[in-house]
Amino acid sequence: MDSLRSRTGVSVEAIDLHFQGKPGRIASFLIRHQGGAMLIESGPGSTIGGLELELRRRGLAPGDITHLLLTHIHLDHAGAAGWLARQGARVYVHPRGAPHLIDPSRLLESAARIYGDDMDRLWGECLPVPEEQITTLEDGDEVAVGGIGVVALDTPGHAEHHLAFQLDDICFTGDVAGVRMPHSGVVVPPAPPPEFAPERWRRSLAHIAAQQPEYLALTHFGLFLDPAEHLAALRRGLRAVCHWADENVPRAADVTDLQARYTDWLEAWALEQGLDAADWPGHQAINPAWMSALGLRRYWKQKQG
Ligand SMILES: [Zn+2]
Repeated sequence: MDSLRSRTGVSVEAIDLHFQGKPGRIASFLIRHQGGAMLIESGPGSTIGGLELELRRRGLAPGDITHLLLTHIHLDHAGAAGWLARQGARVYVHPRGAPHLIDPSRLLESAARIYGDDMDRLWGECLPVPEEQITTLEDGDEVAVGGIGVVALDTPGHAEHHLAFQLDDICFTGDVAGVRMPHSGVVVPPAPPPEFAPERWRRSLAHIAAQQPEYLALTHFGLFLDPAEHLAALRRGLRAVCHWADENVPRAADVTDLQARYTDWLEAWALEQGLDAADWPGHQAINPAWMSALGLRRYWKQKQG
């Protein structure tokens, strides 16, 4: 399913950005209106060419994007925001994310610590967004254009500055509804440092469930029509991951050992949940277990006080 209509007839298209040349990894969602189109998630700088191509295939130019809504500022979701702003888009983001769009230097430094020499290849160029083109959104704020209304939901847990967006009966969930490959039932929580917070995450899932969505639109990856089952699977995943951290972080010899153990465990757990082995590389490309191991380590250490 790569497009659908909301309860009031608003059309939503999932654009596959073909991250690293592969389908089904990073999506951006297109919502047309009379004066152009709204985009939810820009994707990274490295997929700008793919985004342009996919817009052109749909009869649109980058300059037609009037509104860019970002769930959070991680590079796979928002790296191309500055480029879209240059084409004229207004950018909507959580108040705590805005400073990092205006000046991405700290964001890029921390990503470089994690990704090292792979930064450019993975994420491409990340341009700043001019402050005057940014609108910050609090919980319940609505972005309205030509009869279409999208409501921001404050949803921390994966990141403190995370928003989900509700359009009629569709919820765009960024990373707070986890990672799920197309045609798969297995949902994995991405737990990167430094802000993985499972208690806050669980409250965010309750906030999403309270909107009673009929569809979930996941950046990784696609449109799903079983929100209740999906959210239940993610709650199971969060429980399993936290339990693993409680048992294993204190036992690991060092960080490398912890990362190796977590990668082995997560793959085995996902396969046991019914993941198709062919989908494991996609999970690793989007939400590398070695990175979540760092987030789990930080979570465990904070818990010890
Ligand atoms: Zn993220």
